Amino acid sequence: MSEEETYPHDPNDPREPMPKLLHSFYEGRAFVSCTRCGESLSDFEDGYRISKNFKGDEVIIEYALCMPCLVAMLDEASDESKESLAKFQEERFRDVSGFDECSLCDKNFSDVKDDEYGLVGVCHGDDMVDSAMICFGCMEDMAAIMSEETRKTWDKFREENFPGVPSDFEPMPTQPAPMTT
Ligand SMILES: [Zn+2]
Ligand SMILES: [Zn+2]
Repeated sequence: MSEEETYPHDPNDPREPMPKLLHSFYEGRAFVSCTRCGESLSDFEDGYRISKNFKGDEVIIEYALCMPCLVAMLDEASDESKESLAKFQEERFRDVSGFDECSLCDKNFSDVKDDEYGLVGVCHGDDMVDSAMICFGCMEDMAAIMSEETRKTWDKFREENFPGVPSDFEPMPTQPAPMTT
């Protein structure tokens, strides 16, 4: 806690130290490698994205994807899914960061903390540059607009990396990365 408080912080710099919440629960330390390609995360200049789904305090699934892998996963989505997802985000994406509010609806963390929810962090090295929380309802809404084909891409990723995790796992991202500008 005090570590974070003493971190030199420029208000114009969105970087902050990686919160423990985004550490790998299973490894008991920060993520070191990409779940998909296995490369060392600190080597990616564009950073990487951590996703963790919780049910209450329990971690259901967690993974880190380097930007090339994340882009590749998103790129495998059908054109139809990409379009509906872009539209969905345009309509729903709120300009909020952090874990206190759902980035797609007006629920607060306290409304969802006993249920399922997802936390996402965009990271560079040991720093986090952006973060978001998504409530279960919004995850379901997002899942509902994806085509069968797109779901299969993520199902395959899940089966290969997390055998035994129930198939209602839905890792669809919010904004893929700060890479549009
Ligand atoms: Zn990768
Ligand atoms: Zn929501």
